[in-house]
Amino acid sequence: MTKLRQASEELRDAYRYPGFVPSRTIERLVDDPSAIVLALQRREKKTACGVCGWVARRWYDRRQRLVRDLPCGDLRVLLAVDVRRVRCAACGGVKQERLPWLAENPHYTRRFARYVGKLCRGSSLTEVAADLRLDWHAVKAMDMAYMQEQLERAGPPAPRVIGIDEISIRKGHVYRIIVSDLEVGRPIWFGGVDRSDASMAQFYTELGPTRCQAVEVAVMDMWRAFRTATERHAPQAAILYDKFHVLRQLGEAMDQVRKAEYKRLTDRDERQFIKGQKYVLLSHGNVPRLVESRVVPQGCCSRSIEW
Ligand SMILES: [Zn+2]
Repeated sequence: MTKLRQASEELRDAYRYPGFVPSRTIERLVDDPSAIVLALQRREKKTACGVCGWVARRWYDRRQRLVRDLPCGDLRVLLAVDVRRVRCAACGGVKQERLPWLAENPHYTRRFARYVGKLCRGSSLTEVAADLRLDWHAVKAMDMAYMQEQLERAGPPAPRVIGIDEISIRKGHVYRIIVSDLEVGRPIWFGGVDRSDASMAQFYTELGPTRCQAVEVAVMDMWRAFRTATERHAPQAAILYDKFHVLRQLGEAMDQVRKAEYKRLTDRDERQFIKGQKYVLLSHGNVPRLVESRVVPQGCCSRSIEW
């Protein structure tokens, strides 16, 4: 076998599916030079009902469908497949055959849909749709199917350390709650209708009493509803406020005091001392002010500073 022939065989193998063999000839779409069409020739006569799996030895009718598969270099690859319908004795009707390598949307192969879903992890739906020349809604559907598959693969969550936060889904204080497994480092629940106690309780209800008992630490901001729902459903869990929110509260309290002191003082010099000192009061006491002292603390900066 010549090397060229061998390479061609290996390429054909990449598009071989159970019961089908890709043709040796490649066709092109008349109006689209960036796509090639590989006809899949059927090797098996029998097929199965797509609904119940009943094996049929003859078909009712068939029609050719172009199915998008993984690209080959810059070329988009379309498979021309005769998709059959069978008269199913078990279901009692005419049903489309089962081809397990086709995605939920039969215009795409399963592996192509997975490829699209994977791309959506790192790019926006719009970008993926533009790059692959796909309809935005089709990309969205494949992304959702991919995420569903990932969820099933990950199995039911059984977290020991959870992180609770709200996420704004549109303008005007419309929130949903997002819960993450902080040990695994991935979100495990997204839901509710707002960020209320009742919405938070939905998560614990879905988790179930046994797995609620296994939660050891719940990290959250200082939103009361998160705490009350956690105390009710997972009373054994230690509640940990995240540092950012604690510091923000401290900062706000400090600023209130600063403003109150400014109002209280009438002496110009004393007022001058407070004015403009907001960030000095909040800063770490050991760090000298760069502009005043013109001293760069050691290890504070890796580059030279100009002033
Ligand atoms: Zn059937």
